[in-house]
Amino acid sequence: MSKSFHINTILAQAGIKSDEATGALVTPIHFSTTYQHPEFGQSTGFDYTRTKNPTRSKAEEVLAAIESAKYALVTSSGMSAIVLAFSVFPVGSKVLAVRDLYGGSFRWFNQVEQEGRFHFTYANTEEELIAELEKDVDVLYIETPTNPLMLEFDIEKLSKLAHAKGAKVVVDNTFYSSIYQRPIEDGADIVLHSATKYLAGHNDVLAGVVVTDNAELYEKLFYNLNTTGAVLSPFDSYQLIRGLKTLSLRMERSTANAQEIVAFLEQSPAVKEVLYTGRGGMISFKVADEKRIPHILNTLKVFSFAESLGGVESLITYPTTQTHADIPAEVRHSYGLTDDLLRLSIGIEDARDLIEDLRQALEG
Ligand SMILES: *Cc1c(COP(=O)(O)O)cnc(C)c1O
Repeated sequence: MSKSFHINTILAQAGIKSDEATGALVTPIHFSTTYQHPEFGQSTGFDYTRTKNPTRSKAEEVLAAIESAKYALVTSSGMSAIVLAFSVFPVGSKVLAVRDLYGGSFRWFNQVEQEGRFHFTYANTEEELIAELEKDVDVLYIETPTNPLMLEFDIEKLSKLAHAKGAKVVVDNTFYSSIYQRPIEDGADIVLHSATKYLAGHNDVLAGVVVTDNAELYEKLFYNLNTTGAVLSPFDSYQLIRGLKTLSLRMERSTANAQEIVAFLEQSPAVKEVLYTGRGGMISFKVADEKRIPHILNTLKVFSFAESLGGVESLITYPTTQTHADIPAEVRHSYGLTDDLLRLSIGIEDARDLIEDLRQALEG
Protein backbone atom coordinates (compact mmCIF):
# COMPACT_ATOMS: atom_id res chain seq x y z
CA MET A 1 0.00 0.00 0.00
CA SER A 2 1.32 3.38 -0.97
CA LYS A 3 2.80 5.57 1.73
CA SER A 4 0.84 8.47 0.29
CA PHE A 5 -2.33 7.31 2.08
CA HIS A 6 -2.98 8.36 5.64
CA ILE A 7 -2.32 5.83 8.37
CA ASN A 8 -6.04 5.18 9.12
CA THR A 9 -6.66 4.26 5.48
CA ILE A 10 -3.61 2.00 5.32
CA LEU A 11 -4.74 0.24 8.51
CA ALA A 12 -8.43 -0.19 7.64
CA GLN A 13 -7.53 -1.55 4.21
CA ALA A 14 -4.67 -3.73 5.45
CA GLY A 15 -4.04 -6.58 3.02
CA ILE A 16 -7.17 -6.16 0.89
CA LYS A 17 -7.47 -6.76 -2.85
CA SER A 18 -4.33 -8.86 -2.95
CA ASP A 19 -5.78 -11.92 -4.67
CA GLU A 20 -6.23 -11.01 -8.31
CA ALA A 21 -7.22 -14.55 -9.32
CA THR A 22 -10.46 -14.50 -7.30
CA GLY A 23 -10.95 -10.89 -6.29
CA ALA A 24 -11.15 -11.99 -2.64
CA LEU A 25 -11.29 -8.78 -0.66
CA VAL A 26 -9.55 -10.16 2.43
CA THR A 27 -5.99 -11.54 2.38
CA PRO A 28 -6.08 -15.33 1.88
CA ILE A 29 -4.11 -17.44 4.36
CA HIS A 30 -1.48 -19.23 2.30
CA PHE A 31 -0.64 -22.40 4.21
CA SER A 32 1.48 -23.94 1.46
CA THR A 33 5.08 -24.27 2.56
CA THR A 34 6.35 -24.65 -0.98
CA TYR A 35 5.59 -23.11 -4.37
CA GLN A 36 5.66 -24.71 -7.77
CA HIS A 37 8.06 -23.16 -10.27
CA PRO A 38 6.44 -22.24 -13.60
CA GLU A 39 9.52 -23.49 -15.42
CA PHE A 40 13.12 -24.39 -14.78
CA GLY A 41 14.96 -21.23 -13.73
CA GLN A 42 11.75 -19.34 -12.96
CA SER A 43 9.99 -18.39 -9.72
CA THR A 44 6.63 -16.78 -8.88
CA GLY A 45 8.57 -14.79 -6.30
CA PHE A 46 7.71 -17.42 -3.70
CA ASP A 47 9.80 -20.59 -3.29
CA TYR A 48 9.63 -21.74 0.31
CA THR A 49 7.64 -20.22 3.15
CA ARG A 50 10.56 -19.60 5.52
CA THR A 51 11.99 -17.28 2.89
CA LYS A 52 8.75 -15.61 1.87
CA ASN A 53 5.03 -16.25 2.32
CA PRO A 54 2.27 -14.23 0.61
CA THR A 55 0.20 -13.73 3.80
CA ARG A 56 3.28 -12.72 5.80
CA SER A 57 4.37 -10.38 3.00
CA LYS A 58 1.01 -8.56 3.25
CA ALA A 59 1.52 -8.03 6.98
CA GLU A 60 5.04 -6.75 6.26
CA GLU A 61 3.82 -4.29 3.63
CA VAL A 62 1.31 -2.76 6.03
CA LEU A 63 3.79 -2.56 8.90
CA ALA A 64 6.46 -0.91 6.76
CA ALA A 65 3.91 1.65 5.53
CA ILE A 66 2.59 2.61 8.98
CA GLU A 67 6.13 2.90 10.38
CA SER A 68 7.20 5.16 7.47
CA ALA A 69 9.82 2.57 6.58
CA LYS A 70 10.76 0.92 3.30
CA TYR A 71 11.14 -2.57 4.73
CA ALA A 72 9.56 -4.77 7.40
CA LEU A 73 10.10 -8.33 8.55
CA VAL A 74 7.56 -10.14 10.68
CA THR A 75 8.88 -12.59 13.26
CA SER A 76 7.54 -15.24 15.62
CA SER A 77 7.67 -13.01 18.73
CA GLY A 78 8.86 -9.66 20.00
CA MET A 79 11.91 -11.36 21.51
CA SER A 80 12.84 -12.95 18.18
CA ALA A 81 12.52 -9.47 16.64
CA ILE A 82 15.04 -8.15 19.19
CA VAL A 83 17.41 -11.07 18.57
CA LEU A 84 17.07 -10.50 14.81
CA ALA A 85 17.80 -6.77 15.14
CA PHE A 86 21.01 -7.52 17.06
CA SER A 87 22.05 -10.19 14.55
CA VAL A 88 23.29 -7.44 12.21
CA PHE A 89 25.85 -6.12 14.72
CA PRO A 90 29.30 -7.71 14.93
CA VAL A 91 30.39 -9.67 17.99
CA GLY A 92 32.02 -7.31 20.48
CA SER A 93 29.74 -4.36 19.66
CA LYS A 94 29.29 -1.85 22.46
CA VAL A 95 25.62 -1.25 23.21
CA LEU A 96 24.33 1.72 25.18
CA ALA A 97 20.80 1.03 26.45
CA VAL A 98 18.09 2.74 28.41
CA ARG A 99 18.05 1.28 31.95
CA ASP A 100 14.28 0.80 32.40
CA LEU A 101 13.66 -1.98 29.90
CA TYR A 102 11.21 -4.76 29.22
CA GLY A 103 12.34 -7.57 31.57
CA GLY A 104 12.80 -10.09 28.74
CA SER A 105 15.07 -7.71 26.84
CA PHE A 106 17.18 -7.20 29.96
CA ARG A 107 17.37 -10.98 30.50
CA TRP A 108 18.61 -11.56 26.95
CA PHE A 109 21.05 -8.62 27.07
CA ASN A 110 22.52 -10.13 30.24
CA GLN A 111 22.86 -13.52 28.64
CA VAL A 112 24.68 -12.27 25.53
CA GLU A 113 26.86 -10.07 27.72
CA GLN A 114 27.89 -13.12 29.75
CA GLU A 115 28.59 -15.02 26.54
CA GLY A 116 30.85 -12.16 25.49
CA ARG A 117 28.88 -11.36 22.35
CA PHE A 118 28.02 -7.75 23.19
CA HIS A 119 28.97 -5.29 25.88
CA PHE A 120 26.16 -3.30 27.52
CA THR A 121 26.15 0.03 29.34
CA TYR A 122 22.91 1.30 30.87
CA ALA A 123 21.73 4.86 31.48
CA ASN A 124 18.75 6.04 33.55
CA THR A 125 18.12 9.46 32.07
CA GLU A 126 18.52 11.32 28.81
CA GLU A 127 21.40 13.35 30.31
CA GLU A 128 23.19 10.12 31.26
CA LEU A 129 22.63 8.73 27.76
CA ILE A 130 24.06 11.87 26.19
CA ALA A 131 27.11 11.71 28.47
CA GLU A 132 27.64 8.02 27.59
CA LEU A 133 27.37 8.84 23.88
CA GLU A 134 30.61 10.81 24.28
CA LYS A 135 32.32 7.45 24.70
CA ASP A 136 32.78 4.60 22.26
CA VAL A 137 29.29 3.31 21.32
CA ASP A 138 28.26 1.09 18.39
CA VAL A 139 24.55 0.68 19.09
CA LEU A 140 22.09 2.88 20.98
CA TYR A 141 19.05 0.93 22.20
CA ILE A 142 16.00 2.94 23.25
CA GLU A 143 12.65 1.93 24.68
CA THR A 144 10.34 4.93 24.93
CA PRO A 145 8.20 5.30 26.88
CA THR A 146 9.96 2.86 29.17
CA ASN A 147 8.45 -0.18 30.79
CA PRO A 148 7.14 0.26 33.45
CA LEU A 149 8.36 3.70 34.60
CA MET A 150 6.96 5.50 31.53
CA LEU A 151 10.03 7.71 30.97
CA GLU A 152 10.21 9.32 27.54
CA PHE A 153 13.35 9.82 25.47
CA ASP A 154 13.87 12.18 22.53
CA ILE A 155 14.56 9.81 19.63
CA GLU A 156 15.40 12.57 17.15
CA LYS A 157 17.93 14.29 19.39
CA LEU A 158 19.57 11.03 20.52
CA SER A 159 19.69 9.66 16.95
CA LYS A 160 21.56 12.75 15.77
CA LEU A 161 24.11 12.43 18.57
CA ALA A 162 24.48 8.68 18.02
CA HIS A 163 24.93 9.05 14.26
CA ALA A 164 27.56 11.72 14.78
CA LYS A 165 29.49 9.03 16.67
CA GLY A 166 28.88 6.44 13.96
CA ALA A 167 26.50 4.43 16.14
CA LYS A 168 23.28 2.79 14.93
CA VAL A 169 19.99 3.46 16.70
CA VAL A 170 17.50 0.71 17.56
CA VAL A 171 14.09 1.60 19.06
CA ASP A 172 11.55 -0.72 20.69
CA ASN A 173 8.28 1.01 19.72
CA THR A 174 5.91 -1.46 21.41
CA PHE A 175 4.32 0.92 23.96
CA TYR A 176 3.23 3.79 21.72
CA SER A 177 2.82 1.77 18.50
CA SER A 178 3.02 3.42 15.09
CA ILE A 179 0.00 5.57 15.98
CA TYR A 180 1.89 7.79 18.43
CA GLN A 181 5.49 7.32 17.36
CA ARG A 182 7.29 6.52 14.11
CA PRO A 183 10.98 6.45 15.08
CA ILE A 184 12.20 5.98 11.48
CA GLU A 185 10.95 9.54 10.84
CA ASP A 186 13.06 10.67 13.81
CA GLY A 187 16.22 9.03 12.47
CA ALA A 188 16.20 5.55 14.04
CA ASP A 189 17.96 2.87 11.95
CA ILE A 190 15.98 -0.15 13.14
CA VAL A 191 12.59 -0.14 14.85
CA LEU A 192 11.03 -3.19 16.42
CA HIS A 193 7.82 -4.11 18.19
CA SER A 194 6.37 -6.89 20.15
CA ALA A 195 3.41 -7.12 17.75
CA THR A 196 1.82 -9.35 20.41
CA LYS A 197 0.80 -6.12 22.11
CA TYR A 198 -0.96 -3.16 20.40
CA LEU A 199 -0.33 -4.12 16.76
CA ALA A 200 -2.18 -7.45 16.97
CA GLY A 201 -4.18 -6.13 19.91
CA HIS A 202 -6.36 -9.08 20.99
CA ASN A 203 -4.11 -11.18 23.24
CA ASP A 204 -4.32 -14.06 20.77
CA VAL A 205 -1.17 -13.88 18.67
CA LEU A 206 2.53 -13.83 19.59
CA ALA A 207 4.46 -11.86 16.96
CA GLY A 208 7.25 -9.39 16.35
CA VAL A 209 8.26 -6.94 13.66
CA VAL A 210 11.53 -5.32 12.62
CA VAL A 211 11.48 -2.35 10.24
CA THR A 212 14.20 -0.30 8.61
CA ASP A 213 14.66 2.24 5.85
CA ASN A 214 18.21 1.13 5.18
CA ALA A 215 18.59 -1.33 2.25
CA GLU A 216 21.90 -2.68 3.49
CA LEU A 217 20.53 -3.40 6.97
CA TYR A 218 17.42 -4.96 5.44
CA GLU A 219 19.52 -7.32 3.31
CA LYS A 220 21.31 -8.55 6.42
CA LEU A 221 18.10 -8.83 8.45
CA PHE A 222 16.35 -10.71 5.66
CA TYR A 223 19.31 -13.07 5.21
CA ASN A 224 19.53 -13.75 8.95
CA LEU A 225 15.78 -14.31 9.36
CA ASN A 226 15.66 -16.69 6.42
CA THR A 227 18.70 -18.51 7.79
CA THR A 228 17.54 -18.85 11.39
CA GLY A 229 13.80 -19.24 10.65
CA ALA A 230 11.95 -17.43 13.45
CA VAL A 231 9.25 -16.27 11.02
CA LEU A 232 5.55 -15.78 11.75
CA SER A 233 3.16 -18.53 10.63
CA PRO A 234 0.62 -17.79 7.86
CA PHE A 235 -2.30 -18.04 10.29
CA ASP A 236 -0.72 -15.69 12.81
CA SER A 237 0.22 -13.31 9.99
CA TYR A 238 -3.46 -13.21 9.10
CA GLN A 239 -4.43 -12.58 12.73
CA LEU A 240 -1.92 -9.75 12.84
CA ILE A 241 -3.37 -8.14 9.69
CA ARG A 242 -6.86 -8.52 11.14
CA GLY A 243 -5.79 -6.83 14.35
CA LEU A 244 -4.01 -3.98 12.56
CA LYS A 245 -7.24 -2.87 10.88
CA THR A 246 -8.54 -1.44 14.18
CA LEU A 247 -5.22 -0.29 15.67
CA SER A 248 -6.04 3.37 15.38
CA LEU A 249 -9.52 3.07 16.95
CA ARG A 250 -8.18 0.86 19.73
CA MET A 251 -5.40 3.31 20.52
CA GLU A 252 -7.82 6.23 20.58
CA ARG A 253 -10.19 4.48 23.00
CA SER A 254 -7.37 3.16 25.21
CA THR A 255 -5.96 6.67 25.49
CA ALA A 256 -9.36 8.23 26.29
CA ASN A 257 -9.99 5.55 28.95
CA ALA A 258 -6.47 5.91 30.36
CA GLN A 259 -6.84 9.67 30.74
CA GLU A 260 -10.04 9.22 32.77
CA ILE A 261 -8.43 6.51 34.89
CA VAL A 262 -5.38 8.71 35.58
CA ALA A 263 -7.71 11.47 36.83
CA PHE A 264 -9.30 8.96 39.21
CA LEU A 265 -5.98 7.52 40.42
CA GLU A 266 -4.50 10.95 41.04
CA GLN A 267 -7.16 11.79 43.62
CA SER A 268 -7.33 8.34 45.25
CA PRO A 269 -5.94 8.23 48.82
CA ALA A 270 -4.76 4.65 48.11
CA VAL A 271 -2.38 5.91 45.41
CA LYS A 272 1.01 7.53 46.10
CA GLU A 273 2.16 8.37 42.58
CA VAL A 274 0.84 8.02 39.01
CA LEU A 275 3.19 7.57 36.04
CA TYR A 276 1.53 8.43 32.73
CA THR A 277 2.85 10.25 29.68
CA GLY A 278 -0.53 11.70 28.60
CA ARG A 279 -1.17 9.36 25.69
CA GLY A 280 -1.45 5.64 25.07
CA GLY A 281 -3.02 2.97 27.23
CA MET A 282 -0.17 2.25 29.65
CA ILE A 283 -0.29 3.59 33.21
CA SER A 284 1.90 2.71 36.16
CA PHE A 285 1.15 3.75 39.73
CA LYS A 286 2.60 3.32 43.18
CA VAL A 287 0.24 2.35 45.98
CA ALA A 288 0.29 4.06 49.37
CA ASP A 289 0.33 0.72 51.19
CA GLU A 290 2.43 -1.99 49.50
CA LYS A 291 0.98 -4.71 51.78
CA ARG A 292 -2.40 -4.25 50.10
CA ILE A 293 -1.14 -5.34 46.66
CA PRO A 294 -2.28 -9.00 47.00
CA HIS A 295 -5.71 -7.78 48.13
CA ILE A 296 -5.94 -5.37 45.17
CA LEU A 297 -4.94 -8.04 42.66
CA ASN A 298 -7.38 -10.57 44.14
CA THR A 299 -10.30 -8.14 44.30
CA LEU A 300 -10.31 -6.69 40.79
CA LYS A 301 -13.09 -8.10 38.64
CA VAL A 302 -12.99 -6.22 35.33
CA PHE A 303 -9.18 -6.00 35.17
CA SER A 304 -7.45 -9.35 34.68
CA PHE A 305 -4.31 -10.02 36.72
CA ALA A 306 -2.03 -11.11 33.88
CA GLU A 307 1.19 -10.17 32.13
CA SER A 308 1.21 -8.56 28.69
CA LEU A 309 -0.42 -5.39 27.42
CA GLY A 310 -1.92 -3.68 24.42
CA GLY A 311 -5.02 -5.84 24.05
CA VAL A 312 -8.69 -4.85 24.01
CA GLU A 313 -9.09 -6.23 27.55
CA SER A 314 -7.66 -4.29 30.50
CA LEU A 315 -4.89 -6.04 32.41
CA ILE A 316 -3.06 -5.36 35.65
CA THR A 317 0.52 -6.54 36.09
CA TYR A 318 2.79 -6.65 39.13
CA PRO A 319 6.25 -6.19 37.54
CA THR A 320 8.05 -7.26 40.73
CA THR A 321 6.80 -10.86 40.44
CA GLN A 322 5.89 -10.97 36.74
CA THR A 323 7.43 -9.09 33.79
CA HIS A 324 10.51 -7.80 35.63
CA ALA A 325 11.16 -10.66 38.07
CA ASP A 326 14.43 -11.51 36.31
CA ILE A 327 15.95 -8.14 37.14
CA PRO A 328 17.69 -8.42 40.53
CA ALA A 329 15.81 -6.50 43.27
CA GLU A 330 18.75 -4.19 44.05
CA VAL A 331 19.06 -3.25 40.37
CA ARG A 332 15.30 -2.67 40.06
CA HIS A 333 15.14 -0.55 43.22
CA SER A 334 18.19 1.49 42.17
CA TYR A 335 16.29 3.00 39.26
CA GLY A 336 12.89 3.41 40.88
CA LEU A 337 11.15 0.16 39.96
CA THR A 338 10.01 -0.43 43.52
CA ASP A 339 7.78 -3.17 44.91
CA ASP A 340 4.84 -0.78 45.40
CA LEU A 341 4.38 -0.34 41.64
CA LEU A 342 1.48 -1.75 39.63
CA ARG A 343 1.12 -1.46 35.87
CA LEU A 344 -2.15 -1.13 33.99
CA SER A 345 -2.78 -1.84 30.34
CA ILE A 346 -6.02 -0.06 29.58
CA GLY A 347 -8.31 -1.73 27.08
CA ILE A 348 -11.35 -0.51 25.22
CA GLU A 349 -14.05 -1.24 27.83
CA ASP A 350 -16.22 1.51 29.32
CA ALA A 351 -14.03 3.76 31.49
CA ARG A 352 -16.77 3.95 34.15
CA ASP A 353 -16.61 0.19 34.75
CA LEU A 354 -12.81 0.25 34.88
CA ILE A 355 -12.79 3.13 37.38
CA GLU A 356 -15.44 1.51 39.58
CA ASP A 357 -13.42 -1.71 39.58
CA LEU A 358 -10.26 0.13 40.64
CA ARG A 359 -12.17 2.06 43.29
CA GLN A 360 -13.59 -1.04 44.97
CA ALA A 361 -10.22 -2.82 44.91
CA LEU A 362 -8.03 0.12 45.97
CA GLU A 363 -10.30 1.76 48.49
CA GLY A 364 -12.58 -1.11 49.55
C1 LIG B 1 6.35 -7.94 25.38
C2 LIG B 1 7.48 -7.07 25.02
C3 LIG B 1 8.58 -7.58 24.33
C4 LIG B 1 8.72 -9.06 23.99
O1 LIG B 1 7.74 -9.45 23.07
P1 LIG B 1 7.13 -10.94 22.96
O2 LIG B 1 6.15 -10.81 21.84
O3 LIG B 1 6.50 -11.26 24.29
O4 LIG B 1 8.25 -11.87 22.66
C5 LIG B 1 9.59 -6.70 23.97
N1 LIG B 1 9.51 -5.38 24.28
C6 LIG B 1 8.47 -4.86 24.95
C7 LIG B 1 8.45 -3.41 25.27
C8 LIG B 1 7.42 -5.68 25.35
O5 LIG B 1 6.39 -5.17 26.02
